[in-house]
Amino acid sequence: MDKIQTKIIKIDENNIVEELKKGAKIIKSGGLVAFPTETVYGLGANGLDEKAVKKIFEAKGRPQDNPLILHVSNKEQVLPLVEAIPKQVESLMDKFWPGPLTIIFKRSNLIPDIITGGLDTVAIRMPNNPIALKLIEYSQVPLAAPSANTSGKPSPTSATHVIEDLYGKVNLIIDGGNTGIGVESTVLDMSGNIPMILRPGGITLEILKKYIPNVQEDLSIIKEGETPLSPGQKYRHYAPRADMIVFNGEVEDIIRAINDYIRKLSQDGKKIGIMATEETKNKYNNGLIISVGSRQDKSTIAYNLFNTLRLFDKENIDIILAEGVESSGIGKAIMNRLNKAASGNIIQV
Ligand code: AMP
Ligand code: MG
Repeated sequence: MDKIQTKIIKIDENNIVEELKKGAKIIKSGGLVAFPTETVYGLGANGLDEKAVKKIFEAKGRPQDNPLILHVSNKEQVLPLVEAIPKQVESLMDKFWPGPLTIIFKRSNLIPDIITGGLDTVAIRMPNNPIALKLIEYSQVPLAAPSANTSGKPSPTSATHVIEDLYGKVNLIIDGGNTGIGVESTVLDMSGNIPMILRPGGITLEILKKYIPNVQEDLSIIKEGETPLSPGQKYRHYAPRADMIVFNGEVEDIIRAINDYIRKLSQDGKKIGIMATEETKNKYNNGLIISVGSRQDKSTIAYNLFNTLRLFDKENIDIILAEGVESSGIGKAIMNRLNKAASGNIIQV
């Protein structure tokens, strides 16, 4: 791949219109623009331009069969992209957009096959971030935008993460500060008979149940060794360079088990990282201890999760011992990401 000259621009209220118009110009001419959303940073290209979308796969090293999400800035943009918008789906769009809910529709023929990985469905969402919304609006096309990281690595929650992974591979990186939620959108399949969550994310199962009581979860995204319905879920993902073990169970048992491992591993001369929480960070006496957030408010854990994984890599840690959290609310998305980051290496204590 040829090296591209990457421009980095910090956005504030004084330059937002002017700079995003320039960003839109890059999109319209088939280039790549990384931009913040409320979940993680996205790597955007014109979603209707096959050649531009191909560049996303190249820049990320993303497997070709992993479909992309199209990002829109208003509901009307969805119509030409899908076969139909059922009533129930329309009310979900009204309720949750803009926001971290990706909806899967039956696709129309307008969409290049490269977007959908050859599936007869398409994933669409409207992000809740003024920079993202304006960039899409000015571009006048839906933006294909997966997370702006190298495939397999922890997702980017700051412009610095994007620069680490994609400098020299994209035309523009828009710095809009840290992303607010920190884990990706919920992927909800509304294209079949049963509404199905294919990836847990910013909008929780508990919230969705209030609006679609018959919503189910694709359980293979939780169980080991089964192939999920969403192609992306089958790949190693979000992974730090270090090995990783996640400990799941009651907090006191987790602390005891991690301390046992610390004793064993330090005898082997391993450089150990401990992903702890505010409530537990003083319970370990060896290794690099980083608090990822508070168990009292799991959204703080989601917010810091990917940055914490990247921090361990910067410190050249050999093995990360990570505390699990209760798998409810946003905890489900956190455990899904931890499970994948650790390649399923979870110890039930
Ligand atoms: P990312 O773009 O990195 O946030 O990943 C997008 C996720 O949505 C991946 O897990 C994809 O496999 C999933 N996805 C995108 N389009 C579809 C689709 N049409 N059917 C099922 N899953 C999809
Ligand atoms: Mg991703």
